[in-house]
Amino acid sequence: MQGKRRGILVVVVMVAVVLVLAIGIIIGHFAVPKTQSYQQGAEDESISEKLIQEMKAENIESYLRDLTAHPHLAGTAADLSTAQNLSEFWKQQSFSRVSIVPYRVLLSYPDKENPNLVYLLDSNGQTLHRTQKMEKILRPEQNQSDVVPPFHAYSKPGSVTSEKLIYVNYGRVEDFIWLKENKSMNFNNTIVIARYGKIFRGDKVSNAENFGAKGILIYSDPADYAIDGETSVYPDSWWLPGTGVQRGTVYNGEGDPSTVGYPSLESSYRDISDRSEWPLPTISSHPIGYNDAIQFLGNMTGDVAPPEWQGKLSITYRLGPGFNNTSWKVQMNISTHDEYRTTYNVFGFIEGSVEPDRYVLIGNHRDAWVFGAADPSSGTAAMMEMSRAFGQMVKQGWRPRRTLIFCSWGAEEYGLIGSWEWVENFVKNLNQRAVAYLNVDIAVQGNYSMRASSTPSLHKIIYESSKKIPNPNPEEVKSDRPSLYDTWVNSFPRKGSQPKLPFINAVGAGSDFTGFLQLVGVSSMDTRYTYNTVSLLL
Ligand SMILES: [Zn+2]
Repeated sequence: MQGKRRGILVVVVMVAVVLVLAIGIIIGHFAVPKTQSYQQGAEDESISEKLIQEMKAENIESYLRDLTAHPHLAGTAADLSTAQNLSEFWKQQSFSRVSIVPYRVLLSYPDKENPNLVYLLDSNGQTLHRTQKMEKILRPEQNQSDVVPPFHAYSKPGSVTSEKLIYVNYGRVEDFIWLKENKSMNFNNTIVIARYGKIFRGDKVSNAENFGAKGILIYSDPADYAIDGETSVYPDSWWLPGTGVQRGTVYNGEGDPSTVGYPSLESSYRDISDRSEWPLPTISSHPIGYNDAIQFLGNMTGDVAPPEWQGKLSITYRLGPGFNNTSWKVQMNISTHDEYRTTYNVFGFIEGSVEPDRYVLIGNHRDAWVFGAADPSSGTAAMMEMSRAFGQMVKQGWRPRRTLIFCSWGAEEYGLIGSWEWVENFVKNLNQRAVAYLNVDIAVQGNYSMRASSTPSLHKIIYESSKKIPNPNPEEVKSDRPSLYDTWVNSFPRKGSQPKLPFINAVGAGSDFTGFLQLVGVSSMDTRYTYNTVSLLL
């Protein structure tokens, strides 16, 4: 090509490029009105008022009765039926879309025919005491065949026996170190007994494992769980009776333990050749009530435990190792086994009118160890009523600005499994589209005040929202605290804040926000109504 013609071509291309660029800029400039709502987004106060007006306490009560009529443990038939019921409920609310998303995951169950038992044996192997197979039925409605016996999910199965039982207080690292350094305690091949409280039970098990123990019993001490004394317990009060046992997981990770780092899809690789491939406890653990615990602790030998290690059982707590009669033994027979089962997440969508590809997610788990009245069904009932109120607005033609996704998670109790697998499954979509994740695990566990934990980015919106909600306690209103915010800032003030602000905890791990926060980095929060934790600690 000749130089002159090439020069003309370059100029034409340049003009064309500038023209396209200019058109682009002009389109951008004129096609997007400056006043469009998504640039400033003035809030319509009447919407939150209408939502609050629409929600009825009696509906929440009726949902809660239905949800807690039967046990609904993850991976059982009740997991599917509660998912189907919720799906039908959301379809009736005119949601844009409702879906059930199953995941086949590694869960853990006790053997009903061969329940977990712990024995105190004499020198001839005769039973001096055996822990209860099932919890005592204290109200007739508890008498249901699908209540599982006490167990720790993912405990190592098998039988372990030791003459050396050691009391390790709360089973914290510092408790083990104290025993080692001050009492020269050797934990190798021992069974330890720890009380519930202060730290996650899974950490007690891993501490026992790390210090060399081969088994751990975890019991609930009246000092922590029957604070008004052993005569003031369920069904007469809310404290734990001596026959009550706290079930729970002792898995320290999140999500399906056999697919760490990727979602549990049908096609996903799982190494099922050996349990040791999975990040699960390598020792046996079992929860017991304090009526059983006293039979072991009350017969122990060794130094008297320090005053702050003494619980509220009517015995002198001793450290061990072992029993007054040195030939007595403790034996744990654990039949809990891992098993692949299907758990179900349910989603209800209300598509946004302005930014449909931006998601605000609201979630609660559905699975419970047994009836789950507070955890999680109070949260499920509250979320159902909230979604019904939104549904009423949708039926009147209203749509939110962004897409709202109501999420009901399966298998949270086992290790946040339903939510974690789903976040792993859709991590790229959520990374681009999720605006915030609002979690309610337990909605109500007391009637003192709300408490919240959240990422700092949501503090302001939580404060402002709580100012719109009327205080549910008439006595508090008489004391000139008309809003939820007023009672919250009065009950749980942030230390040293000026002006006075309510305390909001950091959000870390422990419920279904964890996947959103740790895998995607989405602003997250969790809230509940709670009892007076301050006065209980005094
Ligand atoms: Zn929960």
